[in-house]
Amino acid sequence: MRLSTYFLPTLRENPSEAQIVSHRLMLRAGMVRQASAGIYSWLPLGFRVLKRIEQIVREEQDASGAQELLMPTIQSADLWRESGRYDDYGKEMLRIVDRHERDMLYGPTNEELITDIFRGASKSWRDVPRNLYHIQWKFRDEVRPRFGVMRGREFLMKDAYSFDLTKEDARHSYNKMFVAYLRTFARMGLKAIPMQADTGPIGGDLSHEFIILADTGESQVYCDRDAIEFDPLAEAVDFDDRAGVQSIVDRWTSVYAATDEKHDEAAYAAIPEGRRVSARGIEVGHIFYFGSKYSKPLGAVLAKPDGETVPVEMGSYGIGVSRLVGAIIEASHDDRGIVWPESVAPFRVGLVNLRVGDAACSEASGKIYSALRAAGIEVLYDDRDESPGAKFATMDLIGLPWQLVVGPRGLAQGLVELKERRTGAKEDLPIDAALARFTAA
Ligand code: ATP
Ligand code: MG
Repeated sequence: MRLSTYFLPTLRENPSEAQIVSHRLMLRAGMVRQASAGIYSWLPLGFRVLKRIEQIVREEQDASGAQELLMPTIQSADLWRESGRYDDYGKEMLRIVDRHERDMLYGPTNEELITDIFRGASKSWRDVPRNLYHIQWKFRDEVRPRFGVMRGREFLMKDAYSFDLTKEDARHSYNKMFVAYLRTFARMGLKAIPMQADTGPIGGDLSHEFIILADTGESQVYCDRDAIEFDPLAEAVDFDDRAGVQSIVDRWTSVYAATDEKHDEAAYAAIPEGRRVSARGIEVGHIFYFGSKYSKPLGAVLAKPDGETVPVEMGSYGIGVSRLVGAIIEASHDDRGIVWPESVAPFRVGLVNLRVGDAACSEASGKIYSALRAAGIEVLYDDRDESPGAKFATMDLIGLPWQLVVGPRGLAQGLVELKERRTGAKEDLPIDAALARFTAA
């Protein structure tokens, strides 16, 4: 992509409405634009990041055996009356009346709808286990939308729903999501800690929130420092190995980690003082096991092998996909801008032509640009006629992991400069060697 033609409305000044760094940087880097309170348009740069995060979520859901579908954003109120949540949900739910005076709503979550889909199609023990998920926009009319995409009113969520015959099977489904979540967040460069959590209005009795520690987080959390040290990607996971998956969950849950609502002072005090962490956290995911809370009222039952029918055992599992864009920035930035982890970066390389009017610089830059594109490397090519200072500032602000700088002085010796955004480390390299950094396997 050539920056001269790219829609990237960056801001030099800090926007006054943004209270936290991720919101400031997303606005300054031209990633999003507010449409109305808590509702955002995703501009090209931001949309690329959103899609990359979504793809990691998708790959890890699929790897765990979950299956993707797509449910609508607009739902009928009737199902919510069946479950009893239509009145309980309160003002957070956006209620709509259609031209036939039918009550509709913009879905804040999908337990009712997925249960309705399942009950119409699945009748026996042979039809489970299943885990169905989608990645779809939600609307919650939050009292205080704030911090940009972190607490929006319209936001993108991955929500999965598991269906099982027995509590033991449901536990395995829960464990699989637990492990898939650990891997998902680790792949984004985040240290997300599973913490015992309240089940809230969704109900049920087994629940963990996945929290990343950040001063701007809205939750107060407590944990043992050991929980921060585990590496979820250290070993491959066989999701069909019940005991193996359970042992990963056990390892994490044996270390104290809880949100405010579930905090246990005595257990916390038992942690050696040097390992106690009391901090703010951002909730990026939340998993629940709630048994037959929805299947009972909605009549989603399965016939057991002996013919007896029982309500299907369910769990639900959310990830805040759009919130993650902000959360990753909270975890990874410096005073010059965003520092994207490679796995979610909008482009891998920023190619900077320092002197657009210079024939040699433009020729070399053009060749590098073509070679990277031919190798399938995503590159943003700054071919604008701007000062070097302005170009470096833009590159640092938008945080691409690598910058390749082509200037007249280096080029006279056949060299370009490769800069790593995270460390600031610079290296002068022959063009071929610089290209090989990205194209070599
Ligand atoms: P919170 O406690 O932050 O209000 P929640 O418990 O209501 O969230 P869930 O119903 O568990 O949220 O939703 C699953 C995930 O969706 C959350 O873990 C969070 O990452 C994300 N999420 C929830 N509400 C919002 C919102 N208003 N804006 C952006 N993301 C959200
Ligand atoms: Mg929650």
